[in-house]
Amino acid sequence: MTETMEKPIGASEINPKFKYEISKMHGGEKLMRCFQCGTCTSDCPIARFSDTYRPRQIIRMAQLGLKDRVLKSDTLWLCAACFTCTDRCPQDVEVANVIRVLRNLAAEQGFMPQVFKEQCASILESGYAYKIPELRMKKRESLGLPSLPKGNPESIGKTLREVHLLKHVEKKGE
Ligand code: SF4
Ligand code: SF4
Repeated sequence: MTETMEKPIGASEINPKFKYEISKMHGGEKLMRCFQCGTCTSDCPIARFSDTYRPRQIIRMAQLGLKDRVLKSDTLWLCAACFTCTDRCPQDVEVANVIRVLRNLAAEQGFMPQVFKEQCASILESGYAYKIPELRMKKRESLGLPSLPKGNPESIGKTLREVHLLKHVEKKGE
């Protein structure tokens, strides 16, 4: 996946149907209400610490139909889903949900950062998003803390298969 936000925009990149595609999805319905006030970006905790992550920009690019550019962007995956933007948007745009819709579309096309693919693999193997080091388990024991509940990778794997996530994780974006 490459970072594509900064390149000049070519007319051939514009997909005028993209905004309708998003607006039909749950959470994306109010995309076109955005009037670019910038409140989402100014209140976003991730934008505060990133030079590139701007929810307002993502919304605008989606409105303009820059489908490939948005879906291939790594910054899409920086959102922490805190919903501050959604709470504060004066136009009631569900910014965080639009970003979720865009991520789902990106994942369907195989554009998912390796770190999330690795988390999926770990969930399937152990039921946990991260492998917990043996040393940390021993430390818990020495502190008298109870052992962690056992993960249930079978049950989680069944759910992930039902939502076709595994198929998307294995797909490679072009
Ligand atoms: S706060 Fe709402 S209206 Fe303002 S830029 Fe963000 S999405 Fe658009
Ligand atoms: S939900 Fe995402 S875009 Fe919105 S404020 Fe939180 S981190 Fe920023």
